[in-house]
Amino acid sequence: MSELHRGSYGGEGGGRHGSQRRGSFSSLIDYCVRFRLVRLQRASTLQFDSPGCRKVSPCPCMSVPMTRPPEPTPSPPQRIVLKFGGSSVSSRSTWNTILAVVTELRNQGHHVLVVHSALAGVTNLLEALPDRSRDGDPQEILDALTSRHMLLAQELGVDGPALLDSELQQLQRIAAGVALLDEVTPRIRARILAFGERMATVLGAAFLKDQGLAVDWLDARELLTSEAGRPAGTAAHWLSAECSSDLDPELSRRLDELPGVALTQGFTARDTHEDTVVLGRGGSDTAAAYLAGGWGADRLEIWSDVPGMFTADPRLVPGARLLRKLGYQEAQEISTTGSKVLHPRCVPAVRSRGIPIHLRSTLDPSLPGTIIGPDPDSGPAQVKAISWKSEVVLVSMETVGMWHEVGFLARAFQVFEEVGLSVDLVSTSETNVTVSLDPRANLLEGWVLDRLVEGLTPICRVQVIRPCAAVSLVGNRIRGLLHRLGPALQAFEEHRIHLVSQAASDLNLTVVVDEDQAERLVRQLHSLLISGAAQPEVFGPTWQELLRNGATAAPPRPRWWRVKQDDLVALCRDHGAAYAYHLPTVATQLRTLMEIPQVDRVFYAMKANAHPAILRTLVDGGGGLECVSQGELEHVQKCCPHLPPQRLIFTPNFAPREEYVFALDRGIPVTLDALHPLQHWGQLFQGREVFLRMDPGWGSGHHEKVVTGGRHSKFGIPFFELDELLQLVDRHDIRVVGLHTHSGSGILAPDHWGRVGETLAGQAHRFPHLRALNLGGGLGVPEKPGQEELDLPQLATGLATVKEAYPGLELWLEPGRFLVAEAGVLLAQVTQVKGKGEIRYVGLATGMNSLLRPALYGAFHEIVNLTRLDEPGASVVQVVGPICESGDRLGSDRLLPETREGDVLLVATAGAYGRVMGSRYNLREPAPEFALQE
Ligand code: ASP
Ligand code: MG
Repeated sequence: MSELHRGSYGGEGGGRHGSQRRGSFSSLIDYCVRFRLVRLQRASTLQFDSPGCRKVSPCPCMSVPMTRPPEPTPSPPQRIVLKFGGSSVSSRSTWNTILAVVTELRNQGHHVLVVHSALAGVTNLLEALPDRSRDGDPQEILDALTSRHMLLAQELGVDGPALLDSELQQLQRIAAGVALLDEVTPRIRARILAFGERMATVLGAAFLKDQGLAVDWLDARELLTSEAGRPAGTAAHWLSAECSSDLDPELSRRLDELPGVALTQGFTARDTHEDTVVLGRGGSDTAAAYLAGGWGADRLEIWSDVPGMFTADPRLVPGARLLRKLGYQEAQEISTTGSKVLHPRCVPAVRSRGIPIHLRSTLDPSLPGTIIGPDPDSGPAQVKAISWKSEVVLVSMETVGMWHEVGFLARAFQVFEEVGLSVDLVSTSETNVTVSLDPRANLLEGWVLDRLVEGLTPICRVQVIRPCAAVSLVGNRIRGLLHRLGPALQAFEEHRIHLVSQAASDLNLTVVVDEDQAERLVRQLHSLLISGAAQPEVFGPTWQELLRNGATAAPPRPRWWRVKQDDLVALCRDHGAAYAYHLPTVATQLRTLMEIPQVDRVFYAMKANAHPAILRTLVDGGGGLECVSQGELEHVQKCCPHLPPQRLIFTPNFAPREEYVFALDRGIPVTLDALHPLQHWGQLFQGREVFLRMDPGWGSGHHEKVVTGGRHSKFGIPFFELDELLQLVDRHDIRVVGLHTHSGSGILAPDHWGRVGETLAGQAHRFPHLRALNLGGGLGVPEKPGQEELDLPQLATGLATVKEAYPGLELWLEPGRFLVAEAGVLLAQVTQVKGKGEIRYVGLATGMNSLLRPALYGAFHEIVNLTRLDEPGASVVQVVGPICESGDRLGSDRLLPETREGDVLLVATAGAYGRVMGSRYNLREPAPEFALQE
């Protein structure tokens, strides 16, 4: 490719820098930091100056919690636009937050304009209404709209029918009109869509007033007029209108003079004929930005259920970090390349006036979120985000005819225009031009592409490549980083990069790859270029941390097997049943633990899954291995022959004498779990180093059978035997270099390991040679729906306490399940289905001979029908295996789609204690195992 450039955004790179009048970014950040410092001081001097507040005594606002660090006094009154998204206006609790946020700003003397969206999901209903009306079936939607709004009214304690009956009746009449005429124009669609924001703001204004705030509800159609830019009469004129963001002195004066808080609809404007128009989906952000520009606002705050922009899509990269500050252009690039936090049209509207945008979360108003302002003109080159867009279509046009020819591109692009397709990225070489089409900007149905191909065929050889994904690196001066991209680009080695495009603005480098490669790529690029980035003023906490603190809403849990659906179905078809292990997931889990600064070493408890590829993955990732039998030690010698003995630890229980001899002969560290070996075979350990497994007297775990601490468990040396133990140790000149406790399995309480550490460390003074505390494993993973992930930052905090008190002791962990459970799935084909009255059974080709945990522990494993992953549940079934035991049941009462013989069912979270516990019972072989490299 001789020349690379970007299509549609290249122009954005031009010199239209926002004015600097509001000071640099760093001063904004300083500001925020100082706010925190003066918080207490200010809290006691809050004034309540909203007119509404004076009416009530004691004012309810006084109980409103502080929502942000107070501003340094005296701060001149500012004009602040607050935009709240659909999820932030749909419940009483989020409205309480809005009340608190607004009240506080008012109390500080600021002018506030609230702009908000329709209730979550309402615009979708309204979008569907015209067509449903034409089908003569609008009632369901109308009912849903009514009940959504009435329920919220009830929650807010306002009179829903009085406020909204006339709106709902109007809507009903329009729906009837559409049905009657059997026709719907973009003009009518816009009118219908505007009802969502109108009804929501009417309820919101009534609520805030009831709470004692002075509120002026203003109709957005009197505030914003669309520009004539969009061709009149086209759908875009009505449904994707654009307005000016220039300062509007009339509007400004009007808003300044309002005594109370102004509140208006997002998404809505009028055209020069006074007709209602809307600003395109997600257009409330844009409305707020236009109004901020028109008013001359000092700041635009956009509130939603995420606290800002992240370095990557958190659904793919839970370790994605909150971006604390961004330049306008960077934010714009991140929005246009895939992030949905901010509408891309929003940035240009405020950038020219230098109005900063603050992204905030209604779930945690104290968090400063992301601050977007003028682009920094110096500072290190750094990738700020890896964004991605799926469902991208590429069109490759090949011809020798264009070499040194005039007009080929003009002719080709004319065809795109005729078909009505907007081009996103372009790359050209002497004989090939490749362009990408974004489904968000285009209707990419088969017939449209057929017409395109038809139009292009006379002038070149056309190939349509789909589905693709565009993965973009975004950040200032990205060209300066090209040399660092080397290792990152190795990720593309085995896969085709269809197109590379670099923005002339030096803000963006995009590659287009096959869609199924995108997620892996995003993760790899993120971990190479961003995960460890310093610059705390730019890179904030991770999504995971924020999720744990409740500052952001949970995304659906990512599942590696969802994207591998076809491969897994095929694998299972070939074998009837199979275990599949996803090695990248294993590696990621290990990395997550090794990244905890207080954890010095991680030993994988290989009893969980001894598959050679898994052992190698963990060893390559820097982990050690914990073995409990001579068989395991021998297996490791075979699979990882070069592993030094110090990366192993042998921790058997009631093992025969010879096994200790085997380990000691090979220099493998040994853990003693009872006095017996010292009492009877003391000379074996003469002059050696050992670890001691202690029983702290208590245990933990997901089932009584996996609790390994406490008097009723057969493991460990109780503390009351310590005196005798020390005598034995002395007698044989043994150096105790480590203390160990493993108290159970599947533990999700994060403070557990810190407690173990404290208990063990409490005995440290009795062991002068002590170097390490092995805190055991048992780190749980969520298995049942609704279970939360183990809170690792919290776990780290517990360990930090031990580390601070005993800086000389290494802390080790010994996890099994945590590293491999989610990486493994059991696949099995349906053999037969049967119904016995009410009860329905789905029978699988394998059962307890492959996965014993449900029978042994009553363990829960999620089960899905992989053949019909996206079909809705149809009936509740018992999922059973072919073994002649009533206990051979993998899942009880599971809701599955209509399931048939030959379908492939997937049993999730089966990578730990699955196949290793399998048997040949009934002489049925357990499922064979397959390791997936990617
Ligand atoms: N309610 C509109 C939509 O859902 C606008 C917005 O919420 O931003 O697209
Ligand atoms: Mg939005």
